[in-house]
Amino acid sequence: MYAQVIVDIAHSQVDKIFEYSCPDGTSVGSRVKVPFGGRYADGFVIGVSAVSTFPPEKVKPVKEVFDESPALVPECFSLMERISSRYKVPKASALRLFLPSEMRLGKVREIYKKIAKVKDISVQISSSAKKQKEALNFLAEQKSYDYTELCSLFGRGAVNALIEKGAVELEKVKINRNPFAGVKGEGCEKVLTEEQQRAVSSVENSDKRVHLIHGVTGSGKTEIYLHVISDVLKLGKTAIFLVPEISLTPQMLSQLRARFKGEAAILHSGLSAGEKFDEWWRLRSGEAKIAVGARSAIFAPLENLGVIIVDEEHDQSYFSETAPRYSTLDIARFRAEYNGCKLILGSATPSVESYEKAKSGEYNLITLKKRINGRPLPEIIISDMRKEVRRGNNSAFSSALREELDKTLSDGNQAIIFLNRRGYSQKVLCRDCGYVAKCEHCDVTLTYHSEDDCLKCHYCGAKYKMLTACPQCGGLHVRYGGTGTQRVVADLKAAFPSARILRMDNDTVSGKDGHYKILSSFANKQADILVGTQMVAKGHDFPSVTLVGILDADMSLQFEDYRSGERTFQLITQVSGRSGRAGESGKVVLQTYCPENYILRFAVNYDYEGFFENEIRVRKATYFPPYALICRVMVMGYDEEKALAALKEVYLAVEALQQSDKDEFIFLNKMRSPIKKIQEKFRFQVLMRLKSDKYLKQIYDLAAKYSDAHTLVYVEENPAALS
Ligand code: ADP
Ligand code: ZN
Repeated sequence: MYAQVIVDIAHSQVDKIFEYSCPDGTSVGSRVKVPFGGRYADGFVIGVSAVSTFPPEKVKPVKEVFDESPALVPECFSLMERISSRYKVPKASALRLFLPSEMRLGKVREIYKKIAKVKDISVQISSSAKKQKEALNFLAEQKSYDYTELCSLFGRGAVNALIEKGAVELEKVKINRNPFAGVKGEGCEKVLTEEQQRAVSSVENSDKRVHLIHGVTGSGKTEIYLHVISDVLKLGKTAIFLVPEISLTPQMLSQLRARFKGEAAILHSGLSAGEKFDEWWRLRSGEAKIAVGARSAIFAPLENLGVIIVDEEHDQSYFSETAPRYSTLDIARFRAEYNGCKLILGSATPSVESYEKAKSGEYNLITLKKRINGRPLPEIIISDMRKEVRRGNNSAFSSALREELDKTLSDGNQAIIFLNRRGYSQKVLCRDCGYVAKCEHCDVTLTYHSEDDCLKCHYCGAKYKMLTACPQCGGLHVRYGGTGTQRVVADLKAAFPSARILRMDNDTVSGKDGHYKILSSFANKQADILVGTQMVAKGHDFPSVTLVGILDADMSLQFEDYRSGERTFQLITQVSGRSGRAGESGKVVLQTYCPENYILRFAVNYDYEGFFENEIRVRKATYFPPYALICRVMVMGYDEEKALAALKEVYLAVEALQQSDKDEFIFLNKMRSPIKKIQEKFRFQVLMRLKSDKYLKQIYDLAAKYSDAHTLVYVEENPAALS
């Protein structure tokens, strides 16, 4: 028998299919070890045949077949082709996406529990060894007992002595790790409202492949997803349910556990390698039928998919920032097509691209206008911060926000205070000469962290001592400017001494249940105010929150990005949506320095349609996505000269394309990237705006051509940030 193998080396020169002889019974989808270039390499079997296409004496044998049952589902091979041609990556890189990384490099060791059993009761134990006698008698009664616990009862020495004498033996039993064993299952199935029922029927009856559920915050989208999943399971099919990375909320987990028990497997980046592997294997073996997780869960090893759901479809985390730089929505569409199943996108603030497709009839558009609790969306009060400053209020909170906070706290309700981390620079500034502290390895300003009184680089993690004097002029007036979450918490404590305050941002969240702990304690009302960055904006459902404060609504408007208006609208709508979700109506105080901005006005009125109409008109007139494609070729390397040389080559080649078809290029230029250096690598870019994807393939080819050991060249399409 012969196996067609893709070697697990992501390099364009070995991006082809190799043939090996293999043992009978080797299945397609298995992982193998094969001789390759004088060494051994791992590989994936993508086909088997009875005869070889090469002279048999030239075909080497497979060294080892790893899996009893194949790791890869058959669909992988079709997706592999699509992904490698769409994103111009070697087939091996595409296949890797389908396996937990732990599985590839043999990092997963199965976890065993040791069980002690009596082997030979007649072994003589001297009467002086009291503990050993007791342990043996105990074990004879119990038949078998957990080794670790036995040791803690009778002492490790005694138990080990019994093993040595042959009286007791150990047996290994596999533990099925359950990463969320502690999560309580809550939330029974609800009777759908009329609006929800209409949405479910629309999904099930429409013959369109893709459905966009545009439902205001609190309209019960989750319940719709869960119903559709239930229906799909009843048909004997499987489901993928994607949520943005960090919005895997405690409520969502417990609902899934309660509804679907062991049928749901949760793939989350915070899991340990072993846990991830176990969840993955439960899906692959068919024990679990629903894959829930962030972006990478789109590659879940499920067969016979009945539905793919992408919640908060506008979220940036659905774009992969490392190669292959895929868009999760693309992959979801490929998988839905392969399986002939439905793809449901949901959001209160759909991306302009998706909404445009829904408006034009390509997607089935489902609109939910009402909140489940029957109350209006929270009233948004605008605080003009310029007036506050004029009145002498230099604190982070407007007087309206203070008043509302006071009221909320005395009513026994909860508040969320949101600030846009990107907007607040906690940079260190010399007030004498204007010096700003920067990272030595990256061209970015450092951020002050008061917990450990040091400066940190958010790009490479480097830590620096807090400056006492300016390194440039020696002046002593070094200050950190701006307001961060830490300072907001300090100010809140001063203003509301009895309030219990929780903070959630990248610095306070760590470990797999970091989010979970903070969010659960807030949900359990162990705190009154939750202060945080983007993380608090996502799909949380806290019934007692009746006030949301947005400290710097317009900060994200100041970024030079065609999507900054869209982002700002999304952020305001999403954060506001956390208020007044249950019994009582909610309020929002929105602080801004430019209350007249039209994006803010649409947001304050929850006017998504108005925002969209305006935005799409502007993009059409100025040629921005979805009416154009922004394409950036990044050129990076430690050697500045070599990177520059590659940049020139790439640019010349693109310029030649432009010369041959001037109409297609709206914009083309080469430059240093805004962040000139990250982790000692110099960064350059060829930036272009194209009317279509006509030349995309050629641009990908160019990048591959000029990428080498010194210089990394890669393509980004509509990149999330142009940093
Ligand atoms: P969205 O995702 O649209 O913001 P959620 O799915 O979080 O909204 O639902 C908002 C709240 O309404 C949740 O607390 C949820 O449990 C509740 N809910 C949803 N559907 C129903 C229903 N049919 N009956 C009662 N409560 C519901
Ligand atoms: Zn750095």
